[in-house]
Amino acid sequence: MAGQVLVLNASYEPINVCSLQRAVVLVLKDKAEVIEQAARRLRSATSSHALPLVIRLVYYVKVPRNRSRRVSRRALFARDGFRCQYCGSRHDLTVDHVLPRSRGGESTWENTLTCCSGCNLRKADRTPDEAGMTPERTQRAPGPAVFITAAAGGRPPSWERYLSTI
Ligand SMILES: [Zn+2]
Repeated sequence: MAGQVLVLNASYEPINVCSLQRAVVLVLKDKAEVIEQAARRLRSATSSHALPLVIRLVYYVKVPRNRSRRVSRRALFARDGFRCQYCGSRHDLTVDHVLPRSRGGESTWENTLTCCSGCNLRKADRTPDEAGMTPERTQRAPGPAVFITAAAGGRPPSWERYLSTI
């Protein structure tokens, strides 16, 4: 997460994360402005620059709406708060297919959830109903904030007010 910068569209909508180096280049080329910066500054021999935490693109970038994003472990775990959806454990996390793959269950956002290996083993080739195991909530595709959090590997406080709007 250190060295990751949140990128906002010209409309202030968070769109992705980039490296600190890339953010500095965008700002120096006047393609973005610094919205939030660290208390310390980035110093070189001849100058000092703001150390960006959040930048905003000067020009609006068209981001496709409702683009379907593939299920990844990182984003799935982030969606589920890094907790097993059956017992709440935060250890040995893996991906469970609600309807097992062996029975035609697909790797979609609606059919996968975060599960500890113990629960995964116990559930085996059964549906939650058959196994008598109820997941915490219904599964659905997460919003953009989850993908940004997963890509960055965390969610620093300086990003919170921007991510909470999406
Ligand atoms: Zn579990």
